Amino acid sequence: MTRDPCGCSTPGHAALTKEQALERLLAHVEPLGETETVSTAEGLGRVLAEPVTSGIDVPAWDNSAMDGYAIRHADLTAAGGRLRVTQRIPAGSAGSALAPGTAARIFTGAPVPEGCDTVIVQEVCEAAEDWVRIPLDCKTNANIRRIGEDIRTGAEVIAAGTRLAPQHLGLAASVGAARLRVHRRLRVAVFSSGDELVMPGESLGTGQIYNSNRFMLFGLLQRLGCQVVDLGILEDSLEATEQALMRGAAQADLIVGSGGVSVGEEDHIRAALERIGTLELWSIAIRPGKPLAFGHIGATPFIGNPGNPVSLFVTFCLFGIPVIRRQQGVTGDLRPLTLQMRAGFDWPRPDKRREFHRARIQIGEDGAPELAVFPSRSSAVLSSVAWAGGLVEIPENRVIDKGDLVDFIPFDGLLS
Ligand code: AMP
Ligand code: MG
Repeated sequence: MTRDPCGCSTPGHAALTKEQALERLLAHVEPLGETETVSTAEGLGRVLAEPVTSGIDVPAWDNSAMDGYAIRHADLTAAGGRLRVTQRIPAGSAGSALAPGTAARIFTGAPVPEGCDTVIVQEVCEAAEDWVRIPLDCKTNANIRRIGEDIRTGAEVIAAGTRLAPQHLGLAASVGAARLRVHRRLRVAVFSSGDELVMPGESLGTGQIYNSNRFMLFGLLQRLGCQVVDLGILEDSLEATEQALMRGAAQADLIVGSGGVSVGEEDHIRAALERIGTLELWSIAIRPGKPLAFGHIGATPFIGNPGNPVSLFVTFCLFGIPVIRRQQGVTGDLRPLTLQMRAGFDWPRPDKRREFHRARIQIGEDGAPELAVFPSRSSAVLSSVAWAGGLVEIPENRVIDKGDLVDFIPFDGLLS
């Protein structure tokens, strides 16, 4: 086995590309498979385990699309455009059959009465006491929403494997679903390795820094609907690392760590996993974020991210989130959503590794959207991530000129 300059085990292999690393990771994790039933009101962010099908036609009956008058069109010419208004049908009530030569005052969403084939919008009508005058040239069959026009009884309205957004909850409710079968919440244990780390609220001693990774990981996991198990800050020792990994394996479905993944004397992830589990340590040809540890303790997968906060954010977005989505039972393409956007910047000195620079959408001088990049290339600057709306993917050795098309991974697209 040889070791490359980053200290990663690369038995005769070059560093992995982003695509290779993601493919390997996804091949090693399975959906949890455990499900539970929740009320539709509690479904936000959960992943549907069984499709939602409709028990009803939507709409459930022919109904008016407008406030106006419900008529039988053939009666109109016979009556010279003047019809007697004999009933009033607001939404939530049902009228009676239209008697010949009569009209019903009707409101949006109300069922049209039997015999009605047309609703005339009120703006074109002239109404007085108990009659209405309607233009003779108005169209027949207009302004009625037909039964089952949107959804037929028995149709699948939300597929299994969908993460439920507010609009899915609305859709489920619209077909009368009060309860949903979802995957159980993924439990994710999180630790931050480093003797230098202290929590905000404590004062900083010499050489200490605040633990920022914990807050990013917790936030992302919460947005992904995970239940977080807090393993805290780990001192840089083999014993503490082993203990945390074992606690994580006992309590969680996935363990996520930051720091300690290189092979310096203060980095213990590798040795700990080699003793109590299995480990693959990959060098990935990306910048920032080169080393990524992946392994198992028993059946529980572990992802070890670099400690550098910008690197952690990038590696977790690119590799950690797809793993979580797979475990949660999300189906479809698990790779981060990537959009082609116009570069609003020049990138004259590309790297030989693929770069994921912090970027956001801005409106260019011509009024069309384009990408702006954060001015500093340093991966130590966490403010770059806070400034950004996503990552621009800059291919190996590729010079970018303003106006070129580039790939953009929006942060919001990672969370579906
Ligand atoms: P490591 O991967 O442990 O070698 O850490 C790389 C760099 O990231 C060092 O400068 C660490 O101090 C820093 N770092 C590690 N963990 C954290 C954390 N949880 N929050 C902020 N910075 C960290
Ligand atoms: Mg460290």
